[in-house]
Amino acid sequence: MDLNTISEIAHPRSRAQLPVWTAGDAWLAGGTWLFSEPQVHLTRLIDLTDLKWPALTVSENDLSVAATCTVAQLDAFACPPEWIASPLINQCCRAFLASFKIWKTATVGGNICMSLPAGPMISLTSALDGVCTIWQADGSEQKIPVADFVTGNQSNVLAPGDLLRQIDIPLAAMKRRSAFRQISLTPVGRSAALLIGSIAGDGAFALTVTASTVLPMQMSFARMPDAKELRETILQNISDDLYHTDVHGKPVWRKHMTLRLAEEIRRELETLP
Ligand SMILES: Cc1cc2nc3c(=O)[nH]c(=O)nc-3n(C[C@H](O)[C@H](O)[C@H](O)COP(=O)(O)OP(=O)(O)OC[C@H]3O[C@@H](n4cnc5c(N)ncnc54)[C@H](O)[C@@H]3O)c2cc1C
Repeated sequence: MDLNTISEIAHPRSRAQLPVWTAGDAWLAGGTWLFSEPQVHLTRLIDLTDLKWPALTVSENDLSVAATCTVAQLDAFACPPEWIASPLINQCCRAFLASFKIWKTATVGGNICMSLPAGPMISLTSALDGVCTIWQADGSEQKIPVADFVTGNQSNVLAPGDLLRQIDIPLAAMKRRSAFRQISLTPVGRSAALLIGSIAGDGAFALTVTASTVLPMQMSFARMPDAKELRETILQNISDDLYHTDVHGKPVWRKHMTLRLAEEIRRELETLP
């Protein structure tokens, strides 16, 4: 939709060219959410496209995903065979309630900064121990795990003028065995629960719960827990008020599915060689 309160669009090409942040500003990434509903409080958009950050960069230790990397670019990335967790990328990209038009334009950073419970890029990058780099409005830089970046339904640690620059995923996480479960109330509906489990080389098990909860919840175990230990740990760590409620699922159902999908993940990873 037209945003008819916008009177200016800035096109910075470098960090030095980022304009001084003022009330009424918003970063423009893919624009799939920004242009989907009225934004009467906004007067200027700062387009991130001309910063031309490389979408995906592999270094010795990390896969760096630029905030402006689109969901389609991430989905198309050819991962080396030893990255056995890579199916998670495609599974999470397909967990969007969205058409191909959204996919080709929506960015990983935009999804994380939206901080919706059903943000599949939050699920993916938090489960893979991703770390956000934030360019702070005062010129400094902050690093924070994705799991701590999101603080609730549509809330996160960003202060006005802060910009998410990239997410670094450790290659060690890409080499973990993993299992994915997702459910929606309707066949192509928004995720009501999305869980990812993984096992490290030393046998440590990690479970990340998203979509059913208002923020990502992570639980770690030194070894694979039995069904009772897993269930009790989830019940202890996720209080009832952390389960999200909207038209895509009531909290009591989301809690039930969280416990059920977690056990499915446990069984799947327990039986793999
Ligand atoms: C039909 C449809 C279906 C959708 N389905 C889903 C879904 O299933 N799950 C879901 O989570 N969302 C969904 N969305 C919402 C939205 O499209 C996605 O969250 C998308 O990933 C947002 O990315 P974007 O690049 O388009 O962000 P934009 O719309 O450009 O920006 C979103 C917000 O993030 C801010 N922002 C963007 N990039 C940065 C950055 N680097 N640093 C700081 N702030 C930034 C913007 O200022 C804005 O406030 C859907 C939207 C539509 C229209």
